[in-house]
Amino acid sequence: MKYITCKSCGASMVIDPSGKNAYCPYCGAEYVLDHRDTDYYRDFYDRMRGFLKLSADAQERRRRADELWKYAADEMTFECTDGRKINIRSMNTYKSKSAEAYTARENIIFRFDPYNADKSDRFRRAVSALDYPSADTRSLSDFFPLISGGFKLSDGSSLLAIKKRADEYPLRLFGALSGRHTAWLIGRMENICCVLEYNSLVHPDFGIDTLYIDPYEHQASLYGGWWNAVKNNTSVNGRIYKTRDNLTALRETAARVLGFECAADVKETPDIPKPFADFLRGAPEGNAYDDFALWDDVLIKSYGERKFINMDTDDEEIYGRGH
Ligand SMILES: [Zn+2]
Repeated sequence: MKYITCKSCGASMVIDPSGKNAYCPYCGAEYVLDHRDTDYYRDFYDRMRGFLKLSADAQERRRRADELWKYAADEMTFECTDGRKINIRSMNTYKSKSAEAYTARENIIFRFDPYNADKSDRFRRAVSALDYPSADTRSLSDFFPLISGGFKLSDGSSLLAIKKRADEYPLRLFGALSGRHTAWLIGRMENICCVLEYNSLVHPDFGIDTLYIDPYEHQASLYGGWWNAVKNNTSVNGRIYKTRDNLTALRETAARVLGFECAADVKETPDIPKPFADFLRGAPEGNAYDDFALWDDVLIKSYGERKFINMDTDDEEIYGRGH
C-alpha cells in the first residue's frame, strides 16, 4: 500500500478510516490529505470492503486475493545474523513506537530494534500464557497469535513472526464500515474481551491497528501489540490499567470504524439506531461477560432478532457449511 511520510519527523503516517486525514504515531503531527491521496485510500478501502460479501467461494477468494496482493504488496528483504535472507511480501506496514508490523499473506512479522528487543520476549510470554475457557465450543485460540518463528537480524534488530489466515487483513484497511458490519465486529470484539477478562489481562493497544478481520467469515483476531499487555490493576507510568479499559477500547474502535472521531461523538443515524449509538457513547459494564450480554440486548433492540445473524450461533448454522 502507498505510504505518506510525516513532514516533521519522516515517519510513516497513519491514515484515518475516512481517507481524509493522517496522523503521525511518533510526533503526533496531523495532516489533511490532498484529493489524490484521499481518492487512493478511498479506492483501496472500497476494494477491501468488496470482500465483505459472503458469497465468495474458495476459488473466488483466492482470485481476489491474488489480484489484491499484486496491486498492494511491497517486497522487502531482511538479513539474518547467519547471512540468511528473509524475503517478505507485505501489504501493509504499521509502525508503532515499539515495533513495525508487516502484514504478509500468511504471517504478520514484527520487527523490533535493539532498544526494544525485550518487547519481543514480552509478546511471546503474554501469548504463551493465554488460557481459554474450556466450556467454549469454538476454538477461541484461533483468534489470538500463534508464534511461528523468531530471527535475529544483522543490524541487531529482531523479527517475530506469527501466523494469520490468508483472508485476514488489518481492520484499518477497510476504512469506514456500515452499522451492520460494525455490529458483527463488536460481537467478535466482545468475544476477544471475554478471553482477556478470563486471563485478567488489559491490552492497552486493543484497536484498529492490532485487530485483523476475515471479511468472508466475519471473524476478528487480536494479533498486534501484545508486548504492552498487563495484568488487571497494574500501574504503568502512574496509570492503573483495568480490564474494563478493554471495553472502552472496544467502543472507541467501533466509533472509529463507523467514521467518528471518538465514542463520545457517535450520532444516531438511519444506519446506527439509537440503542446502538447509546451503547457506544455509554459506559461499559463492569466486566466483559456482562458487557457482552448488554451488547446482545442492544443488537436485538437495534436491528431486531430475526433480521440479524446471532453471533453466538455456530458458523455452520450461519453459513450452511456442514463438516
Ligand atoms: Zn512525525
